[in-house]
Formats: sequence, C-alpha cells, structure tokens
Amino acid sequence: MNAAPGALVARRVEALAPEELPAFLYDLPALRTHAAAVRAALPARVELYYAAKANPEPALLTALRPYVDGYEVSSGGEAAHVGAAVPGAPTAFGGPGKTPAEIAAALAAGVHRWHVESVHELRLLAASGEAVDVLLRANLPVAEGRLDGVALAMGGRPSPFGMDPAGVEECLRLLDSPGSGGLRLRGIHAHLASGLDAAGQLALTERIVDYTAGLGLAEANVGGGMAVDYADPGRRFDWTAYGTGLEKLLDRHPGLRLRIEPGRSLTAYCGWYATEVLDLKHSHGEDFAVVRGGTHHLRTPATRGHAQPFAVLPSEHWPHPWERPTAAGPAVTLSGQLCTPKDVLAARVPAAGLRAGDRVVFAMAGAYAWNISHHEFLMHPHPGFHFLDG
Ligand SMILES: *Cc1c(COP(=O)(O)O)cnc(C)c1O
Repeated sequence: MNAAPGALVARRVEALAPEELPAFLYDLPALRTHAAAVRAALPARVELYYAAKANPEPALLTALRPYVDGYEVSSGGEAAHVGAAVPGAPTAFGGPGKTPAEIAAALAAGVHRWHVESVHELRLLAASGEAVDVLLRANLPVAEGRLDGVALAMGGRPSPFGMDPAGVEECLRLLDSPGSGGLRLRGIHAHLASGLDAAGQLALTERIVDYTAGLGLAEANVGGGMAVDYADPGRRFDWTAYGTGLEKLLDRHPGLRLRIEPGRSLTAYCGWYATEVLDLKHSHGEDFAVVRGGTHHLRTPATRGHAQPFAVLPSEHWPHPWERPTAAGPAVTLSGQLCTPKDVLAARVPAAGLRAGDRVVFAMAGAYAWNISHHEFLMHPHPGFHFLDG
C-alpha cells in the first residue's frame, strides 16, 4: 500500500513545528490533476457535479470549479456556503427533511435543480409558487445481489431517502394537475449506493436511466458513491471503464441529459492528516503509538472501521536524555489522545521501529474527514489547515 505523500506535502509536514501538529494538508495540484482525469474519462455530455458534503472547504470547491459542471448541496447551509465560495455555479439541492426556511433560502439563492425527496416536499415546493426545475428522487428496487458488500446503501431497500416508485408516480400525477404551481419536471434523481466499482456503478446507472426513460423523462442524475479503497490508496475507481460504459449508454439514449455527483472519489486523495507520535507503549504484548490528535479530527477510520493508510516520516530529533520509546514488534496500533478505546486510527498495522517523535502522515483524509468529526470532544486544540499550491 503506497500511502506516501508527494514532495509538496512531505516538505511542509517536515517544516511544521510539533505544536503546529496535527494538521490537515491539501494538495491542490494533485486535486486538479485528479479532477481533470475524471473529467477527461467521462463523455463530454455527462455533467459532473461535486457533492459538497464530502468536503466543503472553499479552497477545494474553487480548485474543482474548472472541472465540474456544478455542485450538489444537501442543506440550506451548504447551499449558502457553496453560493459564497463559487458564486454563480449551478447547484442541485437534495437531502431529506428540507425545512420551509431552507426551501425559501434556496429559492432565493437560485438553486439550479431541486431533488424532491417526497410527495409532501413536492407539495411544499409547489406551494412556493416558484417555477423551478425538479428531479424526483427515486428509491428503486435493485436486483438481488447487485448491492452486496457495498459500504453504505442509500436505497434499493427501506430508507428515508427518496421515494418508492409508487411515490414517484403520485408526484407525476400531482405535477400533471393544476396544483403543481408551475414546477418543471425534468427527470429522476437516484443515489442508491456507496462504494461501487465501475461495473457495479454502470449497472446501477443503466437501471436508473431505464427507469427514467420508461417514464418518458429525459434527465437523470445517478448520484455518487464511486468506490474509494482505503486498503489500497493506489487502487482508484476505474473512471475510464465507467466513462466508456456511459458512452455506450448515451448512444442508446441520444436525448438523455445525464449527471453524476460524486464526492468521496473526487476529494479523498488530496487530503492528508499529519501528526507526530507522542508516546509509544507496550500493553499486554501489543504496541500502541499515541499520536497528537485522533479520531475527533479524522473520524473516517472510526466510522468505517478501517485502518487509515499512512506513511511514517522518521525524525531523528529526540531532545530528551532518556531512551526513546520505540515499537518492539512489527505491528502497532495508532491511537489518538481521546480517553476512549474507539479512538483508533489504524489497528495492528505494520510499523516496525516506530518511535516517539516520528511523524505520521495519514493519507486519503480529503473527504468525510475533518468535517464529519466530533471536534469539541475532550477540548483538544483544532488542527492547522494548509492548502498547498505548487
Ligand atoms: C453523499 C451523497 C453523494 C456523494 O456520495 P459519495 O459517496 O461521496 O460519492 C451524492 N449524492 C447524494 C444524494 C448524496 O447524499
């Protein structure tokens, strides 16, 4: 597993003082290169939106702007934030439980596409009297086995997201009636799974597109969820295979407007969480490296139950006259400063010879990392943030 940062990140980590750790570092040139490759792998006709909830840092939203057609937002807060960070960029507003105040704010902000999650929500939107473009979010049944083994399934099973086909049909009847308030029905939205490889994603896309076409609609947003493999940072979602498959799909649906809205697979790789080993302890036959910070900054490994990939940047600086605490065995558990056994960033991973004072840089910390973490728990200082541009 190659989790080593590039020179831009490594040099900055080495230049930081211990008190400046932990820190999040974002490799913006790497983000641009990755986003450009994703864009290039997709047919020109496919619209690429970035799901802002994966990481809404303004510097990332801005860096992505040349490569994306717009942004997917999932709250009134995100709508306002994205509107301020990338003014004028098209936005699609999704998410269950939109409040009347959020709806009013998003209407004022000029949201480009509304992802309607329920019949009730459609009625609320129609009551606003605004003529806006809507996609109906469908929770489609998915063929048995199609979603096996994926990280998180948002649909294809009972869920609070979107509507069953019966709900979609009720919306269609409403939209056909005089009470529809001028809402413009554009098509279908579906975000059914997370963690699919290119073949799985393509199968799901075909399912959603067939459903959309079957309703006589000409626009489909097939969501995000492209797989990110935390066990192997070098193994990326096969955008070329997915793009080739989409090309064939579009050949069969020449009038279709197709949109995707990935989050994690765009920004996970550009973020790094750098820290240092504070202490190295031997406990009942196992080694524990306690690092500055922890899962209150980088919650990703705790929520997903994986070992966050990392690289060690050894430091020869040891200011104390006593022996440097050092890992005794080949495997070490990297834990944080929180007083809970759940504060584990990587359990029993190979790190022979790891010492107190060595620096550790966790990879793939650019999505669902800082912004999903419980920062205030135990009142440790917040990390630094560095947006590196080459
Ligand atoms: C979270 C979310 C996404 C992005 O999912 P990723 O797994 O980050 O690609 C896209 N669409 C919707 C509706 C979402 O809720």
